[in-house]
Amino acid sequence: MLRIDIITIFPEFFRDVIDFGIVKRARAAGIVEITAHDLRGWTTDKHHIVDDRPFGGGDGMVLKPEPIFAGVEALTGAGRREDLPPQTRVVLLSPQGRVLTQAVARELAQPESQVVLLCGRYEGVDERVVEALVTDEISIGDYVLSGGEAAALVLTDAIVRLLPGALGSETSAVFESFSESLLDCPHYTRPPEFRGMRVPDVLLSGNHAEIERWRKDAALLKTRRNRPDLLK
Ligand code: SAM
Repeated sequence: MLRIDIITIFPEFFRDVIDFGIVKRARAAGIVEITAHDLRGWTTDKHHIVDDRPFGGGDGMVLKPEPIFAGVEALTGAGRREDLPPQTRVVLLSPQGRVLTQAVARELAQPESQVVLLCGRYEGVDERVVEALVTDEISIGDYVLSGGEAAALVLTDAIVRLLPGALGSETSAVFESFSESLLDCPHYTRPPEFRGMRVPDVLLSGNHAEIERWRKDAALLKTRRNRPDLLK
């Protein structure tokens, strides 16, 4: 089972959203266990303070290192990157990280492993977390969110659906976008004609070889039109 532990100041953010569709089914089937932990639970002061002003001045607040180190230590048994058990990744969601792709998701989708997701807020986290604890900094794109929670959700979903057995049919992920540097082909369902728009005849023909050929060509066409960079 893959264990995903999310460290956040808003654990309730995850409460309902991990209870839908493929992620819900994967949890019920024991393929993944997802727990959102309140960072404040690892504070030791009376007011459960998780942030402080930045050294050197400037706007905003920074998440303090102590509760983050304590949290990762409690969840993994290690308070430094080099002491982490094998198959354990500590991921900081950050706009400064390498950009999430299907290949990165595949790398993290290991059945017998643990992924700890650290969600930043405000100006981010104290850099010593990056220096000594984090194994991966991952961004979900070149834009700035107000917190790592939405990014952690995106990453969790992308990982879970790649775990063996998570999708209804084992082959579903194989033909998806990005699996072969191509986008997926277009899909149609009933009715065969809708507001004057017809489904391509070949898809109604029952000729499976022809259908396969059409799908390959259509995927290539769509990739060329929408994401020519993938074909390079
Ligand atoms: N000061 C930081 C900077 O300019 O690089 C931005 C901090 S952002 C307002 C607060 C938190 O949101 C970050 O620590 C990170 O956890 C999360 N975040 C923002 N954009 C993200 C992105 N594109 N991908 C992943 N996490 C992101």
